[in-house]
Amino acid sequence: MANEKRVRHILSLSGGKDSAALAIYLRDRVPEMEYIFSDTRKELPETYEYLERISSYLGKEVTRLNADVGFDHWYEMYGGMIPSNHRRWCTRALKLKPFEQHCGNDEVINYVGLRADEERSGYISHKPNIKAVYPFKEDGLILRDIEEILRSSGVGMPPYTKWGRTRSGCYFCFYQQKIEWVRLKEAHPDLFEKAKEYEKPYDKTGNFFTWSQGESLAELEQPQRVEAIKREHVIRIQRKAARRENITLAEVFASAEVAEEPEDDDDQGCLVCQL
Ligand code: SF4
Repeated sequence: MANEKRVRHILSLSGGKDSAALAIYLRDRVPEMEYIFSDTRKELPETYEYLERISSYLGKEVTRLNADVGFDHWYEMYGGMIPSNHRRWCTRALKLKPFEQHCGNDEVINYVGLRADEERSGYISHKPNIKAVYPFKEDGLILRDIEEILRSSGVGMPPYTKWGRTRSGCYFCFYQQKIEWVRLKEAHPDLFEKAKEYEKPYDKTGNFFTWSQGESLAELEQPQRVEAIKREHVIRIQRKAARRENITLAEVFASAEVAEEPEDDDDQGCLVCQL
């Protein structure tokens, strides 16, 4: 009908495995899909590489939002305050707002890659013209299915998982586990150094905010501390293996699901940045 309102279908890629698998899963079911990526300009190099790979599989461009301003612009606007789970200005400024601006007042169906086997919550748009849908949840797809979609398509897992990073998002994301900081230093020492540079007294109060809970990166990178973090990680893996039947320790280490296990209850990751 001539005056029927057009509905846009938008899938936001995060650089993570779940949104990548969802794009593959829906490619032929929703051919009019628009793919977007909100670029904080602080992503891992592997994320940009992965987006290229996904785009070439989809045969479509991935539109980059935030082309003009990235994390540092907003970091300055917030007076040099490192974001955290309780001061999470970054997701709002760098992910949600650009997405909502991109949608405008159009009717939008927003496809979200939350799986049937997870109970994450997080920042999604609540604008009345944007309706979130969860195809993996609706179709009962779990981690094993997502891994199979990525494997059989040839797109594969995000390349940063090879060195033990489990989440997409900024290289300095505060949701990282301590073991991931250690691995970041090993895989990308230059990025670790850059992350360290943000840890300085906050202009307004003189408070010293850190990316990782309870310690600065300068403390975390000390050899004895690194050894302790590695030891604690192995113990956590062993505990998890002991809780699960019919699974060898090697399988536990190989399982992406294990790597996603948070270090504490506050470490649930971000629904917008890390799907
Ligand atoms: S990845 Fe982490 S640091 Fe980056 S915008 Fe998302 S929550 Fe913030």
